[in-house]
Amino acid sequence: MILVSACLAGSACRYDGGKKSNARVAHLVQSGEAACFCPECAGKLPIPREPSEILGGTGEDVLLGRARVVSRNGEDVTAQFLRGAYLTLRFCREHGIQKAILKARSPSCGCGAIYDGAFTGTLRSGDGVACAMLKRAGIEVLTEEDLT
Ligand code: SF4
Repeated sequence: MILVSACLAGSACRYDGGKKSNARVAHLVQSGEAACFCPECAGKLPIPREPSEILGGTGEDVLLGRARVVSRNGEDVTAQFLRGAYLTLRFCREHGIQKAILKARSPSCGCGAIYDGAFTGTLRSGDGVACAMLKRAGIEVLTEEDLT
């Protein structure tokens, strides 16, 4: 079983109430090879919600208490992101999942590149909070952009 970001499989769970459907990811779910999960929804953030970015570091820094996740209107949502990341890992463990395909550049799901916390569309290297949590546990993480 593979874990996939729910928005890639067609769930309207993004901050703006939209989705980012990816045909290959949707097929994996329809064929029973993948299961959907949304870390931010699991962390009890609403739909829609203000967009958030990691301020002062990466998802790994958030796990270490060295950076925060802040919404565009200034609300600290670090606790919700940490809870969502923890529940994502718990879901993987419950289902024996060792591989994930997550949405690129998200502050939760991003893998290898995320926005820099200035809400200017500028990228920096690093992972989102849930991605960092899964990688720590030895789970392989790709993004939809790695699918060929
Ligand atoms: Fe998609 Fe992940 Fe954002 Fe949920 S947290 S909307 S699964 S990118």
